[in-house]
Amino acid sequence: MKKQNIVVANFKMNLNTQFELQHWFANFLKAKKKLRLLDTDIVLCPPFLHLDAFTKKIKSKYILLGTQDCFWEQKGAYTGEVSPAMIRSVGGRYVILGHSERRRFLGETDEIIALKMIAALKGGLYPVLCVGENVREKQNDLLLSVVSRQLKECLSQVSRGRIENVIICYEPVWAISANKPDHLPSTNEIMGARLLIRKILTEKYGRAMAERVKIIYGGSVVSKNVHEICVSSGMSGALIGGATLMPYDFIKIAEVIDES
Ligand code: PGA
Repeated sequence: MKKQNIVVANFKMNLNTQFELQHWFANFLKAKKKLRLLDTDIVLCPPFLHLDAFTKKIKSKYILLGTQDCFWEQKGAYTGEVSPAMIRSVGGRYVILGHSERRRFLGETDEIIALKMIAALKGGLYPVLCVGENVREKQNDLLLSVVSRQLKECLSQVSRGRIENVIICYEPVWAISANKPDHLPSTNEIMGARLLIRKILTEKYGRAMAERVKIIYGGSVVSKNVHEICVSSGMSGALIGGATLMPYDFIKIAEVIDES
């Protein structure tokens, strides 16, 4: 049965050596020893190269696996790319798409992300679609138009029958820890973004389907602030970057969300 909440770990380009990988595993396995979750799934999204090792090492009914990208074709002459089927074949069920770092450093556009969304869904993966404004857009009060555009374009090929398999992550780019934010969005601002996303989904898919879509928050979440920024704003979970590398804090985040 699908759980109410989801906590997604984005490892980014970390765990760079076998030593670091094994060190993380050792700490994570210790940290999760007493883990009991009632209504929350944890989804770990390591670099592609580590997915197989994660599948072999981490056996827990609370923990699922995913990746940080996939290609939009199912197979063929696409040098360097990884298909949804490859991800599934080594135990991946989820894929993060539209992350701001891929938009910024790899030139991913809403159009490209739309192709990946439909390929992921057809390939049997659950996409975690990231949307959110950058610092310049925030300064110009463009949250509403940016998030609306990203959602409409990235979901352009996603039908009513498939939308419940999509998770939307509101992640203001300026609030990501790597971008060194001097403050984080308030509970009310995050709640406002959640309502906006729900409204756009309702317009496109109808209320009943829109309500089945989980909306989560990403950007500098740690165990100390998760209640204030994720739980109080009514989000169904979080996308975690930096804190993923601190297994005890990461597990605590999942527990706080589960207790909400
Ligand atoms: P952060 O990263 O938790 O380190 O801010 C989140 C993300 O970029 O997905």
